[in-house]
Amino acid sequence: MPEKFDVIVVGAGVGGLAAAYKLAQAGLSVVVIERGDYPGAKNVMGGVLYRSMMEELIPEFWKEAPLQRPVVDQRFWLMDEESAVTTGYKGQAWAREPYNCFTVFRGQFDQWFARKCTEAGAVIINETVVESCIVEKDRVVGVRTSRPEGDLYANVVVLADGVNSLLSKQLGFHQEWKPQEVALAVMEELKLPAEVIEDRFNLEPGMGATIEIFGGGTLGLVGTAFIYTNKEHLSIGVGALLSQVRQSKVRPYDLLENLKRHPLVRPLIRNGEPVEYYAHLIPEGGYNAIPKLVGPGVVVVGDAAQLVNGIHREGSNLAMTSGRLAAEAIVEAHDTGNFTAQGLSSYEKNLRNSYVIQDLKKYKNASHLFETNPQYFNEYIPVSNMALQEMLTVDGLSKQGKQKLILKRLLSENSLFSLGKDLYQAWKAMR
Ligand SMILES: Cc1cc2nc3c(=O)[nH]c(=O)nc-3n(C[C@H](O)[C@H](O)[C@H](O)COP(=O)(O)OP(=O)(O)OC[C@H]3O[C@@H](n4cnc5c(N)ncnc54)[C@H](O)[C@@H]3O)c2cc1C
Repeated sequence: MPEKFDVIVVGAGVGGLAAAYKLAQAGLSVVVIERGDYPGAKNVMGGVLYRSMMEELIPEFWKEAPLQRPVVDQRFWLMDEESAVTTGYKGQAWAREPYNCFTVFRGQFDQWFARKCTEAGAVIINETVVESCIVEKDRVVGVRTSRPEGDLYANVVVLADGVNSLLSKQLGFHQEWKPQEVALAVMEELKLPAEVIEDRFNLEPGMGATIEIFGGGTLGLVGTAFIYTNKEHLSIGVGALLSQVRQSKVRPYDLLENLKRHPLVRPLIRNGEPVEYYAHLIPEGGYNAIPKLVGPGVVVVGDAAQLVNGIHREGSNLAMTSGRLAAEAIVEAHDTGNFTAQGLSSYEKNLRNSYVIQDLKKYKNASHLFETNPQYFNEYIPVSNMALQEMLTVDGLSKQGKQKLILKRLLSENSLFSLGKDLYQAWKAMR
């Protein structure tokens, strides 16, 4: 007799674990199948984890979870070859409990989260690949795994298998992602003593900072770079749309090396010993790329459903919220015994009403706009740097003279009309 559960969750990332935790808490029998040696082994994230969405699952998790630093300082750099226009926010409110967000190592965090799921009653099977869904009479009824006699059955399968999501592709929920719907990100962990990190980033002991970098860090490609502080490591990474990486023929490793050599970055990471290197895809297709989310006996959550808000570097929180909402819909379906697409449809309805899809909808044209108009990165960021440098350099030229100089530089590459159009389009895409 094959083994049957109420729910099978494929993938022990934060999306899958959020669903599993909620389902196990509700008393359903849940198995999570993970291809990595342990949860977190295959997961890559900068990574900033947001408190609020995790607390919806485990209140005050931050008192016991393995976290790196609460983030109290979020900086933004518009960077060119040797300068940056900088802005950001630093606040004491974020330095106090319950905090806003934390840097984490997913290898540690996911293992802890998985233990919480096990304590709540879920079963976690590692080192096992789900090769396909088992479909009977147009309904998903289980999964076929890489283990001998590895078929498992359930009323519902949650596909939380991350960005590639071969399983929902097999079901016809989406096509192969287009190269402009995913970003390729590479990152490194650099080891440094805690006090050195705190000195360089102007932090109180134990507190953390993040820097998001636009422009020079990606060699003019559409994408962003980042530096995050962990306890005794810096995470430094850079990502750009796959379409651009392919077109430019820039090697991802070179993008990272270029970032590390930048004169504003170099002093922050000096003597950092590289201990880990990762490369991973990030779904960046946004609202227009969201695949089918619900079918008979199956739901899709997290990266597998393209739920990443690249503009705000949010992904883990969208994965957790979608996992939680999927679990709530499954519990309802369990109560009525209706596991059809209609019986599970409250997942999609609630997701569409939540910040997850509302935010993706808000920015639905943004990444496409920046991809097809590289002047935002290649021209306007250097001009903004030049403008501030000019205005802040005291050299006897009148301020009006300086303004004329800036305008001349701006108009040397753009007509007033195209400038106005670009500004309007950027405002429209981000409003
Ligand atoms: C470089 C980088 C930096 C990022 N920084 C941030 C950040 O700072 N903040 C943030 O919120 N988000 C960030 N993200 C995005 C975030 O990591 C993801 O949105 C989030 O991890 C999605 O969670 P998930 O559970 O959907 O998928 P994942 O965490 O990718 O989990 C999917 C799991 O499924 C498993 N799996 C896949 N296929 C199978 C299969 N067939 N059988 C069994 N198991 C399978 C995988 O091994 C994996 O464990 C970043 C991403 C990258 C790449």
